[in-house]
Amino acid sequence: MYRINNFNAGPAALPIEVLCQAQDKFIEYGNGMSIMEMSHRSKAVEQLFEETRQIMLEMLGLNSNYSVLFMSGGASMQFAMVPLNLMSTKRIGCYVLSGSFSEKAYQEAQTLGNAKIVASSKQQNWSSLPALNAIRLEADTAYMHITTNNTIEGSQFQTFPSTGSVPLIGDMTSDLLSRKLEFNEFSMFYASAQKNLGPAGATVVVIRDDLLKECVNPIPTILNYKTYAQNHSLYNTPPVHSIFMMKLVLEWLKRQGGIAEMEKINVQKANLLYDVIDSSGGFYKGCIEKPFRSMMNITWRMVDEEVEKRFVRESECNGFDGLAGHRSVGGLRASAYNAVPYQACKALAEFMIDFQNRNG
Ligand SMILES: *Cc1c(COP(=O)(O)O)cnc(C)c1O
Repeated sequence: MYRINNFNAGPAALPIEVLCQAQDKFIEYGNGMSIMEMSHRSKAVEQLFEETRQIMLEMLGLNSNYSVLFMSGGASMQFAMVPLNLMSTKRIGCYVLSGSFSEKAYQEAQTLGNAKIVASSKQQNWSSLPALNAIRLEADTAYMHITTNNTIEGSQFQTFPSTGSVPLIGDMTSDLLSRKLEFNEFSMFYASAQKNLGPAGATVVVIRDDLLKECVNPIPTILNYKTYAQNHSLYNTPPVHSIFMMKLVLEWLKRQGGIAEMEKINVQKANLLYDVIDSSGGFYKGCIEKPFRSMMNITWRMVDEEVEKRFVRESECNGFDGLAGHRSVGGLRASAYNAVPYQACKALAEFMIDFQNRNG
């Protein structure tokens, strides 16, 4: 079987073992049906959700004072749901701006009420991360929202400020399960599946009970976190097959040794590429200042767009996919999520050295 070296930013690579397991269960999940043909009110689906919840909490090292909610709509829907559930005329939503997705989250909150920027690296064209230790939150703050990994730009926060009694909310779409974090410092975090968790279609929200209690705004039922919590994410018909595959990914992660082992490999993978960039004498130029570089999305530029295009073209002829930077920023980007094998990064590092030898 031919498997390309897949560096797409999302939807992205999935573990081959998971794809094979899903294939195996595609036609018959149990009781003579595919899971896609089964009622979401069936025992089997209920059990699937419960098991996925449990293994998610286990991988994150969290207790059952957190609810794990499954829904659709992607991270983009969370940009609206967070302020809808938690902001009010008296309570402001505070945003850390570190890249275009964080800015989108902020802009969405602005359309819904009182949102404020408390730190930003936009002036630096997102090439660094804003300092968080100078942030002073007012007493009337509803929450502080931060994007832990900036998928498009290629930067990643290493530490998070203590926000005291103000809930800290993380968009972890592109790095959840890729590294150890003090997850219990967050009152809530969310991720759409198509980067580190599984196929597109499902979104995970992990929310602590005390914050869930705060969701009292009169908003549409389907957008209320409480609806999902009270109905075990089965109020409406959820994307069952995507959630099934998420469970397979979580079980795969557990077999790899969990988040801690995954993080070790992810650091090695990213360093293979950063080492090539840093020892290229300027042929490859990293987009992000060193202390802020992401282990998930490695971004760089080359002397001009012509050479960048040639790099992409040649990479595609050599068994790589997804290396062109996001259409809004250009350049190059290698997304090395959990499911991207070490060998794929090694092959890319070798290709980069070879490309430089031929074009440098
Ligand atoms: C991909 C991504 C999004 C957007 O996700 P959708 O599922 O397409 O809505 C938001 N935030 C981050 C950090 C992302 O990586």
